[in-house]
Amino acid sequence: MFQNILVPVDLAFRPERRRALPVAVDLARKYGGQIRALTVIPDYGMPLVGSFFPGDFAEKAMREAEKELRDLVADYAPEDLVAGVEVRRGSIYQQILSAASDHGCDAIVLAAHRPEMQDYLIGSNASRVVRHARQTVLVVR
Ligand code: ADP
Repeated sequence: MFQNILVPVDLAFRPERRRALPVAVDLARKYGGQIRALTVIPDYGMPLVGSFFPGDFAEKAMREAEKELRDLVADYAPEDLVAGVEVRRGSIYQQILSAASDHGCDAIVLAAHRPEMQDYLIGSNASRVVRHARQTVLVVR
C-alpha cells in the first residue's frame, strides 16, 4: 500500500525525530516499501541577511545537514529500507509537498509539532502539508 514514504525531519529538533521516523520505518516494513528522508533549510528570502554570510555558507550548511540526516536515518533504518536522503532549501511546507510529488511518494509521515508546543494540536508546517498534500499524510502525535 505505502511503497514510497516521505519523512520530513526538522534537524533542529531532537525529540521529534524519535516520533515520525520509527513509524515510517514500521510502515515501510509492513508494506514492503522504502522511506525517503527530507530536511529543509528555510530560505528566509532576504538577500540583505544573506549578504552577511560567506558565499559558500549555504552549500556548507546543506552538506552538513545531509550528513546529519544520513547518520540519523541510519540509526532507525537498515540501508535497504532507505530510498534516499535529501536536503532542500526554501519554504518548509512547499518543499515537503514538492519532494513528495517529485519522487512519486504515496505517503508522508510527520510529527504534529514540537513537544513543547502541546497547546497546539498541530504545527503550521504539518497542518499545511495535511491540507495541501495529494498523498496520504500520517501525523504522529
Ligand atoms: P512546529 O511549528 O511545532 O515546529 P511544524 O509544523 O513546523 O511544527 O513541524 C511539524 C513537522 O513538520 C516536523 O515534525 C517535521 O516533520 C516537519 N518539519 C518542520 N520543520 C522542518 C524542516 N526544516 N525540514 C523538514 N521537515 C520539517
